[in-house]
Amino acid sequence: MNEKRVYTFGNGKAEGKADMRNLLGGKGANLAEMNLIGVPVPPGFTITTDVCNEYFEKGKEKVVALLKAEVEQSVKHIETLMNSKFGDVQNPLLVSVRSGARASMPGMMDTILNLGLNDEVVEGLAKKTGNERFAYDSYRRFVQMYGDVVLGMKPVNKTDIDPFEAIIQQVKAERGIKLDNEMNVDELKKLVLLFKEAIKKQTGKDFPTDPMEQLWGAVCAVFDSWMNERAILYRKMEGIPAEWGTAVTVMAMVFGNMGNTSATGVCFSRDAATGENIFNGEYLVNAQGEDVVAGIRTPQQITKEGSRRWAAQQEIPEEERVSKYPSMEEAMPEIFAQLNGLQDKLEHHYHDMQDMEFTVQEGKLWFLQTRNGKRTGTAMVKIAMDLLAEGEIDEKTALMRCEPNKLDELLHPVFDKEAKKAAKVLTRGLPASPGAACGQIVFFADDAEEWHAKGHQVVMVRIETSPEDLAGMSAAEGILTARGGMTSHAAVVARGMGKCCVSGAGAINVNYKNRTVEIDGVLLKEGDYLSINGSTGEVYLGEVETKPAEMTGDFAALMELCHKHTKLVVRTNADTPHDAEVARKFGAVGIGLCRTEHMFFDADKIKAMREMILADSKEGREKALEKLLPYQTKDFYGILKAMNGYPVNIRLLDPPLHEFVPHDLEGQQIMADEMGVSVQEIQQRVNSLSEHNPMLGHRGCRLGNTYPEITAMQTKAILGAAVQLKKEGMDPHPEIMVPLIGIVNEFDAQEEVIRKTAKELFATEGVEVPFRVGTMIEIPRAALTADIIAKKAEYFSFGTNDLTQMTFGYSRDDISSFLPVYLEKKILSVDPFQVLDQNGVGQLVKMAVEKGRATRPELVCGICGEHGGEPSSVKFCHRVGLNYVSCSPFRVPIARLAAAQAAVEE
Ligand code: PEP
Ligand code: MG
Repeated sequence: MNEKRVYTFGNGKAEGKADMRNLLGGKGANLAEMNLIGVPVPPGFTITTDVCNEYFEKGKEKVVALLKAEVEQSVKHIETLMNSKFGDVQNPLLVSVRSGARASMPGMMDTILNLGLNDEVVEGLAKKTGNERFAYDSYRRFVQMYGDVVLGMKPVNKTDIDPFEAIIQQVKAERGIKLDNEMNVDELKKLVLLFKEAIKKQTGKDFPTDPMEQLWGAVCAVFDSWMNERAILYRKMEGIPAEWGTAVTVMAMVFGNMGNTSATGVCFSRDAATGENIFNGEYLVNAQGEDVVAGIRTPQQITKEGSRRWAAQQEIPEEERVSKYPSMEEAMPEIFAQLNGLQDKLEHHYHDMQDMEFTVQEGKLWFLQTRNGKRTGTAMVKIAMDLLAEGEIDEKTALMRCEPNKLDELLHPVFDKEAKKAAKVLTRGLPASPGAACGQIVFFADDAEEWHAKGHQVVMVRIETSPEDLAGMSAAEGILTARGGMTSHAAVVARGMGKCCVSGAGAINVNYKNRTVEIDGVLLKEGDYLSINGSTGEVYLGEVETKPAEMTGDFAALMELCHKHTKLVVRTNADTPHDAEVARKFGAVGIGLCRTEHMFFDADKIKAMREMILADSKEGREKALEKLLPYQTKDFYGILKAMNGYPVNIRLLDPPLHEFVPHDLEGQQIMADEMGVSVQEIQQRVNSLSEHNPMLGHRGCRLGNTYPEITAMQTKAILGAAVQLKKEGMDPHPEIMVPLIGIVNEFDAQEEVIRKTAKELFATEGVEVPFRVGTMIEIPRAALTADIIAKKAEYFSFGTNDLTQMTFGYSRDDISSFLPVYLEKKILSVDPFQVLDQNGVGQLVKMAVEKGRATRPELVCGICGEHGGEPSSVKFCHRVGLNYVSCSPFRVPIARLAAAQAAVEE
């Protein structure tokens, strides 16, 4: 443990710097760095993330005692630089207390502003600034925030109104005013009194008047907020470990609410939704930071261009825009010029898009924060490719800047052009996070979760969202809000999640009580359908049809870059020509697994299949298989054609036969009628197929070894299709894979059937097609004896689904009965069926590759379990020297990026 717990900054000096984010949190590290590069930042200090862990280990009192001397000295440091004194009645210093973790967690933890005020200090502040209204407005905000965050006044129930908001409503109602800034000094004073009374009544305690006591309360509350529900949920979603902890930054207050030459805002050096290189952001005159993000007042745009665009979207005429909602560029041109210069400087310094918070206090600009901005998947790709083109970053950095899983968003469907034209546009809001979403309307986050769990697609409609709505936002297809700008929480969080969002649609009237929303005279209820376009801000009535996305432009360029740097190539798991074509478009260079069983479920095929299963002799089975042969040949023909020139790895029949027969009486009756036998006969056969442990039963190569005629038929179909294609001038590369072997003899017996069938077929057809025979490695014994198996098998494909099942001894089909508990208790950190267990299962993979190649140096090794599309597992596959991974078509780009990153990381 570092002995130094507190790091100061201010006046162009700092004890920390940018690369100390693990210790100081992102905010603390960047505030230090900004000081060092000459960006104006109010002085302050950061308590380290180590202290956060200490806090949860040792408890509040011990940690406060440990921090006391350093914090008191650091407060003096601020006092000296600000030339004022904490708690002083004549010349008071106020501070803000902010959270800041290593990874940014926007809005998930707590902040307290205007700290250091009490009944005497507020008078001093009023005198010092000559602005009594400002002083009391700050005071009432402080009591309210401190009450909510530190003293636990925030309502727990979603339908309960904040007790302070209720008081504000009541005071405003008494004089019939609407807006907060219409309240006069006496009303603000009254608020402070009423707030304190409410606190006393609810908590039984007086509001603390000693500024130092206030400070300790706030610091501890910020640490506590690391463990609040929404922060925990956010960490879970983003994979942020609890051990990272949050830092706490205490900074001198600067005031954006000191009148019309003061303002506060948030800005981005590029567009976080589209990635365009356009400086943009929002600000509010005479306001404090939380007013912008909370979405309570409608913020104005920073740039004139942005302001015009915004007004056009809101259908606000130019004259009205200029008079009521001027941009900062127009209203405060000098400050704008400074801001613009500094945002540019920060972007060049960090070589990445910056998300910045600033305050203007009586004409002086201060930066309160900068961080690499959250962005959509589209923006992520565009910004990386643009920065590369601009020479800001190199190719490897551009690759590392993109998060593989986020590419998923670029593959989401978009609205079909024709369907969009025909759709009725109900209203427009701000295009807060792009994409297309349609679903049933819900109004509350927990409903979104519930409906989603029941299989509904929902659009969550809210007046505004708050961080408490996180889980609901995640469950919804899209989010529509009545209030809030492009930097409201709804917008920022939705973009981070890649969730479609339209915010600030002022024309929608949400009625939570009746669970209805009225839009342009149309009344919609919970459960009605609505579609939203997060790229244009349009809201449509009903369901609008979507179509699949395409891989073009920057996305295609990124994939080219992957191609250039990768060693591990990506194939796809596909069972149909359509899937194979989709995967080809995404750059798959072959099929790593074609599961033949999926082909048997069409009406005609299932009948022949069942006949085969019912047959009680080899002859009977062969007759039925004869019927299946043309179907299978046609299937393989289509797939081999779609993958012309690329390897297609086809696996012989794998699942237990009972999966192909009906288990309910009705189905059995239909089958009996079809087959012309009694229902009892069917039942007998179904019963005889039943197994106690089908996953470990009569499946995989055990089928082909007990019924070699199945293997023969499938071989005929695969190679027959290949011969046909070759005759047509194509270039098929079939591979035939034996599943689930544990002992080499199982492979030998199957290979013999395959080779013999091939020989006969080629002789009959007069054409030969080269093919390979390989095996899956998915039973631990196969991995342990890989050197022996590689003597015969020409390639390995790791079936990590079964290999995980058999290495852990967890049934693939039954893990859900205990997995949630295991995750909760941290016995498992992730689901091993999703993320490859590198230490255990991975060790078997590594060993099998090494042993296999010791026997057969050119042995091609791939993976075809679900892990083949999961980035951390893909990287592992690169490290152990696999030749390819194989995954579902829509994960191909994700795997390609992960594979390229693995090569760069090496
Ligand atoms: C595997 O076991 O990993 C595999 C790909 O095969 P299946 O999922 O079909 O058993
Ligand atoms: Mg398997």
